[in-house]
Amino acid sequence: MPRAFAPSVSRSENSLQPVPARRPTREEALEAVRTLLRWAGDDPRREGLLGTPDRVVRSYEEFFSGYGVDPVALLQRTFEETDGYDEIVALRDIRFESHCEHHIAPIIGKVHVAYLPNKRVVGISKLARLVEVYAKRLQIQEKMTAQIANTLDEVLQPKGVAVVIEAAHQCMTTRGVHKPGVTMVTSRMLGAFRDDPLSRREVLSMIGTQGGAKLDNV
Ligand SMILES: [Zn+2]
Repeated sequence: MPRAFAPSVSRSENSLQPVPARRPTREEALEAVRTLLRWAGDDPRREGLLGTPDRVVRSYEEFFSGYGVDPVALLQRTFEETDGYDEIVALRDIRFESHCEHHIAPIIGKVHVAYLPNKRVVGISKLARLVEVYAKRLQIQEKMTAQIANTLDEVLQPKGVAVVIEAAHQCMTTRGVHKPGVTMVTSRMLGAFRDDPLSRREVLSMIGTQGGAKLDNV
């Protein structure tokens, strides 16, 4: 379930996650799905469910493919020939699908990423890939927001970074408090976007959010 404020995230959490001591075998994963099917009250041996464990395990490979990618390495290739371009670079409405780490329920939303270059820029598809790498892990929205911003800051060393995420959490809409239509907004501002109100206002107007109360206290 979404939490009310962003915890601080250390930079060491930005790279590859620690690998568990022993990865379960595929057969163990299939058996775990069968156990959950029995726990739900059904019979994994009935015809309609026979292929389900295999499909679930393959879905997990897709949902959680971000654990196998190093986001820092992903951004390493930068370009310096910008002809002195020193204004904001913003990529809006990057759709993402993630899963909350508390319920493994989908989180679906949009990420807006912006930075103020300091000589170096990165290919825009890399920004989208960066979002993808963190989305394809178990997440809470606050952590994902901070991880994207911190990684960009660390690798590009720009003058400012802004990341805003708007998302719906299915753990809130399909279970628990059952509140459909609720969107959570989180933001992380670094450098000039954090310290300079004018730059902050400019970037927020570029990415289409007006910096309301929800944005300001994250
Ligand atoms: Zn949840």
